[in-house]
Amino acid sequence: MLTHFIGGEQVAQGPVFPVYDPVTGSVLRQVHEADSAVVDRAVQAARAAAPGWAALPVTERAAWMRRLADGIEARFDDLVAAEIADTGKPLEQTRTLDIPRGAANFRAFAEIAAQRPDDAFHLPGVLSYTVRRPLGVVAVIVPWNLPFLLMTWKLAPALVAGNAVVVKPSENTPSSAALFAEICAEVGLPAGVVNVIYGYGTAGQLLVEHPGVDGVTFTGSTRTGSTIMRSVSDRVKPVSFELGGKNAGVIFADCDLDRAVDGTVKSVFTNGGQVCLCTERLYVERPIFEEFCARLAARAQTVEPQPMISAEHRQKVLSYYELARSEGAKILTGGGVPADREAGYFVEPTVVTGLSEDSRFNTEEIFGPVCHVAPFDTESQAVDLANASEYGLAATVWTGSLDRAHRVAQRLEAGLVWVNTWYLRDLRTPFGGVKLSGIGREGGTQSLDFYSEPTTITIKLEQSDA
Ligand code: NAD
Repeated sequence: MLTHFIGGEQVAQGPVFPVYDPVTGSVLRQVHEADSAVVDRAVQAARAAAPGWAALPVTERAAWMRRLADGIEARFDDLVAAEIADTGKPLEQTRTLDIPRGAANFRAFAEIAAQRPDDAFHLPGVLSYTVRRPLGVVAVIVPWNLPFLLMTWKLAPALVAGNAVVVKPSENTPSSAALFAEICAEVGLPAGVVNVIYGYGTAGQLLVEHPGVDGVTFTGSTRTGSTIMRSVSDRVKPVSFELGGKNAGVIFADCDLDRAVDGTVKSVFTNGGQVCLCTERLYVERPIFEEFCARLAARAQTVEPQPMISAEHRQKVLSYYELARSEGAKILTGGGVPADREAGYFVEPTVVTGLSEDSRFNTEEIFGPVCHVAPFDTESQAVDLANASEYGLAATVWTGSLDRAHRVAQRLEAGLVWVNTWYLRDLRTPFGGVKLSGIGREGGTQSLDFYSEPTTITIKLEQSDA
């Protein structure tokens, strides 16, 4: 039974809900759900801890971040097991990406924060400088697709900037957050600086609306982001939103086709397509369209199916497969449930062509192992097709031309553009999306900017007669 972690203590309070194993569909564990009393207790614990934490020199908070990273590495195998149990992710991905990135997030933000100078502006007789103060108590709300990676991506900068936090992981994937709470206790982090509560959207809503919460950082769907925005509007709380995507990949005939196919397989099918950065719309220059489709479909058949996170999400993905069929799409591969995987929440990796651009299949985020492929004739047309989306999180460009790479990348309406690669990240760079894909950027100093507020101090310096 998972219990909340509040003020450094395990708190068994609130009703209980089940978490399901996506591989078998059976109940994995029971978890306490935060009601308004639990949310209030967690926020009060964070408020009590916040001033002492904020008063520490940033170098000391950075040292705590390194201790948390050490603590994560010491519990590495437990974290890998917990993440796999909740999500059904492949072992390799969990060992090499999700859990190591958790530790890397804490180490990166320890460095960035400790080395960051304050700004100072000089004019004759005038000195203006800024000091940055933490927001206070930050609500951290994260989804189920990369639970540990995304939670730590927000926690590390929020904490090193001097905030106390209340974290609510997804109802589908609470286990790695529960282990992280244990790690906080193991390394001796001051009680109340990190609090972890569990529950569905109602718990999240109670948390963001609580008057003791000073800011909200959220990763999840655009629909929930917009609900949260309404929830916090009365108190004009700062929000940082990393939301959904409908990412385009643009493949030019001058690309290295082997690399483009290889990279596209990763960008469509990694984590069963359940990564916000996954490509769901592909535009391929006409001379290589047929060959690209054939090679992509052949490779898709070799991809090991991965479970969707829940029965409900699998149903959603399958409904898009049905939609494609009903609109007369050509299904190049997949389109159903793998024959030997009736238990659990598996769907087939799927490649589709022949749908119109305004089909819901091409406009809505599916969040499964699936893409639509369409041909294009000119560079401008490719850019227009890629940009014709309400979302703007990420895009990929595959080309052998340096000029074209820069030209196209700079015209794409996305927060992140990869050229001849995908998902390569430097944690110091800004991360986030345009249009319906989010508000603000996290990463590097941009994260520290969100998790703190500057005060500008201006001093008139009288000239001395001496
Ligand atoms: P979701 O929006 O359903 O839920 C995300 C979190 O919000 C969960 O913890 C949920 O319990 C909570 N929540 C739900 N309703 C709430 C409310 N009214 N108030 C406060 N909290 C509430 O998203 P999901 O299905 O868990 O995740 C998948 C989505 O996340 C996809 O759209 C994906 O693109 C997006 N995502 C975006 C990024 C990014 O960096 N842009 C990264 C990963 C996932």
